[in-house]
Amino acid sequence: MLGLIKGLNVTLKNMVKPKVTYNYPQEPLEMPDRFRGIQYFDPDKCIVCNQCVRVCPTDCISLTGKKNPDPNQKGKVIETYNINFEICILCDLCTEVCPTEAVVMTNNFELSTYSRDELFKNSEWLFANDENIRSENTLNPIPVKKPTGGTPS
Ligand code: SF4
Ligand code: SF4
Repeated sequence: MLGLIKGLNVTLKNMVKPKVTYNYPQEPLEMPDRFRGIQYFDPDKCIVCNQCVRVCPTDCISLTGKKNPDPNQKGKVIETYNINFEICILCDLCTEVCPTEAVVMTNNFELSTYSRDELFKNSEWLFANDENIRSENTLNPIPVKKPTGGTPS
């Protein structure tokens, strides 16, 4: 009888305590701003420097570039950019080294799927992943390059 009363006492105490669980996935989880989530990629900012590819510890980034079609612009533009989330460990190194913030972290983390093939994400998918970008990466937008050659009248 004493044991029953003790048990009920514990139950009653915990019934009035604040909840420590979330109603996930019905209610989305808000992650801290420094959370390392699935990357957003902006092809217009990429200068095809390959630094993200070189620093990646798991070799999960692949990209191709081509000569800038605009004769007034130097350098290359991105053609394809892919991240294989089967092996990406979301370490944040690619975003740390990117000089133009073309690839940045978001707070998004939901990647579960029934097929491994769906974990291979291309630049269109990464560009569409444009919500919950880490706030420090939205403070300093890179100015759009203006064509060189010729002076404004
Ligand atoms: S987060 Fe890390 S593992 Fe993932 S693509 Fe970037 S550098 Fe590679
Ligand atoms: S995403 Fe950034 S680091 Fe990677 S190639 Fe483009 S500009 Fe360079």
